[in-house]
Amino acid sequence: MKRFIAAIAAAGVLYSFAASAQTYPVKSIVMIVPFAAGGPTDIIARFVGDHMSRTLGQQVVIENVVGAGGTTGITRAATSPPDGYTIMMGHMGTHGAAPALYPGLKYDPTAVEAVGMAASTPILIVAKKDFPARDLKEFIAYAKANAGKINQAHAGIGAVSQITCALLNSQLGINPTAVPYSGTGPALNDLMSGQIDYMCDQIVNLVEQIKAGNIRAFGIASPARSPALPDVPTTIEGGLPEYQVQAWNAVFAPHGTPKDIVARLNDALGKALADDVTRNRLLGLGAVLPGKAEQTSEALAAFVKAEVARWNAALLKR
Ligand code: ASP
Repeated sequence: MKRFIAAIAAAGVLYSFAASAQTYPVKSIVMIVPFAAGGPTDIIARFVGDHMSRTLGQQVVIENVVGAGGTTGITRAATSPPDGYTIMMGHMGTHGAAPALYPGLKYDPTAVEAVGMAASTPILIVAKKDFPARDLKEFIAYAKANAGKINQAHAGIGAVSQITCALLNSQLGINPTAVPYSGTGPALNDLMSGQIDYMCDQIVNLVEQIKAGNIRAFGIASPARSPALPDVPTTIEGGLPEYQVQAWNAVFAPHGTPKDIVARLNDALGKALADDVTRNRLLGLGAVLPGKAEQTSEALAAFVKAEVARWNAALLKR
């Protein structure tokens, strides 16, 4: 009898496992965004999540869980049950630089399941609209002369905005007051209202405000201008060629999420990036979308390993 019950139980486990992989998803999926609403990570997650919902037949619900440069939300997501119902939108900070900056980090970016790359995002140096400079050269001169008086926003230690502005500040030899936010969405609001003097951030939430004249862009830190902002010179044109940096956002699932569920999520992400409306929305905001070969889970897993090694080498040697 005992053996019979054990056999039934084992069959039940097998059945429910097979059913879970085949019927997934049977309920909504939470995508944790580790920064506040209105920032680049949130915007990218909402655009792709919206289309992924249609492919998967279940809602991808965005949940903003903020704090500690994005590591609070990613820790929550990475330690959730690996069943495909909690996934995360990570970025160069949370899945690249964080291990070097947070020794007690509760997740390993190279051990979570890589779903797929969502977008690369050039970095811009932006300032409040009445910042007293006409171009990058004047911005640098003013920032150097007034480093003790000006302030700069970022989204917490290890956030893209923090790392990339720390890089800029060290190249300029300045150390202005840094003001932390729960994401660069709220930081942008304070830049627009003039409470913040400047910040460095991913292009996607800046384009509309630059075009509307609500903030100023002094340079894009890429080799070429962005088609979304053809009037903004590169840092090379502006006389600061050593300031070159590009960030990225990608989707991950907790370690141990079944491979076929990861494949379903990768497929849904790929369809979102191939969809004309989603594509054009992201391209219009300056995002650079991955090619087919860069869209695979394997490509992202290899890329994240290299990113973690790169940031370890860059940040731990300082
Ligand atoms: N771009 C931000 C960062 O600095 C975060 C955000 O997406 O709000 O990492």
